Amino acid sequence: MPDRRPYIAGNWKLWGTRAQAAAYCEKLLALLPDPGRRPADVSLCVPFTALETCVEALDGSGVLVCAQNMSAEESGAYTGEVSAQMLRELGVDGVVLGHSERREYNGETDGALQDKVPAALAAGLKPILCVGETEEERQAGDMERKLRHQVGEALQDVPDERIAEVVVAYEPIWAIGTGEVATPDDAQEVCYAIRTRIAEVFSGEAAAAVRLLYGGSVKAGNVAGIMGKADVDGCLVGGASLQADEFGGICRHYEMPVL
Ligand code: PEP
Repeated sequence: MPDRRPYIAGNWKLWGTRAQAAAYCEKLLALLPDPGRRPADVSLCVPFTALETCVEALDGSGVLVCAQNMSAEESGAYTGEVSAQMLRELGVDGVVLGHSERREYNGETDGALQDKVPAALAAGLKPILCVGETEEERQAGDMERKLRHQVGEALQDVPDERIAEVVVAYEPIWAIGTGEVATPDDAQEVCYAIRTRIAEVFSGEAAAAVRLLYGGSVKAGNVAGIMGKADVDGCLVGGASLQADEFGGICRHYEMPVL
């Protein structure tokens, strides 16, 4: 089995002026072990306007900086959009794609993601693709179909040799920002199903290399149980990442005993 390095990503959503971002980065770095002793990759997914501040403040720290969206287009008549090349020029490492809030409020579709994921990779950005079901879909037994569809559509045009660079975040919509968290067993079951789907579309070897995150009300107090599961390689943290000390605690959970 390939060695999948754990990955903890903080999603600031719509938070973080440049001043807040600079103060946050300084505080977070004081809380994290040195890069060589860090047992997980750590990233901050921040608004466009805070990207440059974070890239500069985190330079040399090993903490990655991600955008929260991008266009699949390189340039043209797409007012208000930002390209993958523009993000790379700033020194950005990755990009969150298909977050449920963008799917719900900004009309993000699986079809658009089919272009965005390969476009991110082609420009040198590591995509974090978000997928997840609503409470109604879970209750109706439609969860597996939905996730199989989302994963298959969004990854369809990713070249085989690049799939291992994609991170997929399973974020049940009913758990995002609600304080309701999936049980570690549920997170494991769904991540296993996503890995199986990736194996169908690509190969078993590729699926074994892709990192899968769980997202939905993760906090310092519940992260260890979730990350203790075999197919859960990390977490995408929203609300709890807005406080540097809470996010630092999540990143340092390896130092705490798993209860
Ligand atoms: C998110 O924004 O991706 C998220 C999981 O939010 P929260 O941790 O607040 O549920």
